[in-house]
Amino acid sequence: MSSIRDKYDTGKTVFSCEVFPPKKDKPIEPTMDKLKDFKDIAPDFLSVTYGAGGSNAGHAVEIASFIRRDVGVDVLSHITSVGFSRTKLDEGLKTFRENKIENVLALRGDRPKTMTDDEYNSRDFFHASDMADFIRENYPDFTIAGACYPDKHFEAEDYDEDIANLKKKVDNGCSFLISQLFFDNEKFYLMQKLMEKAGIKAPVSAGIMPITNAKMLGTTVTLSGTSVPKSLSDLIARYGENDDDMRKAGIEYAINQIKDLLNHGADGIHLYVMNKPEVAREIFANTR
Ligand code: FAD
Repeated sequence: MSSIRDKYDTGKTVFSCEVFPPKKDKPIEPTMDKLKDFKDIAPDFLSVTYGAGGSNAGHAVEIASFIRRDVGVDVLSHITSVGFSRTKLDEGLKTFRENKIENVLALRGDRPKTMTDDEYNSRDFFHASDMADFIRENYPDFTIAGACYPDKHFEAEDYDEDIANLKKKVDNGCSFLISQLFFDNEKFYLMQKLMEKAGIKAPVSAGIMPITNAKMLGTTVTLSGTSVPKSLSDLIARYGENDDDMRKAGIEYAINQIKDLLNHGADGIHLYVMNKPEVAREIFANTR
């Protein structure tokens, strides 16, 4: 079984994309059909999202196995701890292992709306770092990744606190990191400087989301807490009404971000293309 972490040691930039499984009450075949198109794009890996509390766990495992087996691309499966007891997490990880999924992105996840205060405050794993520790201890053959935040995680008081917590994550076994999406590269470079100062040496893939329609930006910002620089809001104001122009401008913005990151020696680029291989194809053709 190959460890995705090794890809960061080849001296080449690691290119990856994030995809998501369908909701558990939806058919899985249309998603599989779409993901087949990643075969000839051949990213270094695809990461598969996971609903908080394992709401779509079955489909997530099926999609991850499909990518590995039928698309022929290495896979990183996200796993969230927020709604999981120790026993349930262990079951989830065993299922991953049975399906030869041994690269995992350990995430806390966000509190589901249905979770009571008591449930939230007595959860087995408080943070992603606690879950990473559990996985490292019980699944030593797994490769563990973690998330980091160029705009700072919204719950942290300041950057210093967030970076100190990030260090715990890496110390507990996260051997590489994927960043939350960001639109201002200076935020990413600042995070890298703070990481260096804190002695965090894990490679980081920079998270880039191409904004291909104006509506996407609002949802993205609400969900991720990412700040929007004036250059991007100007773009939306100028092209937002015209779908074709907006798509072109959004992809160009992402390409320019990536070119600048490559010039700064980024370890990896992680595209939040969300089941749109055609967007990944266009961006990779111009950057890879
Ligand atoms: P943590 O690392 O636990 O951090 C959360 C907060 O707690 C931060 O403010 C941090 O500073 C603080 N903290 C961390 N460790 C400690 C500690 N030991 N002691 C005290 N404070 C601490 N969500 C999903 O539901 N499904 C997904 O598939 C998914 N994929 C994602 C992929 C990426 C690349 C990213 C960046 C995010 C993803 N998310 C996903 C969203 C993620 O679950 C949320 O951002 C969540 O709010 C934080 O998760 P985390 O793993 O970073 O949490």
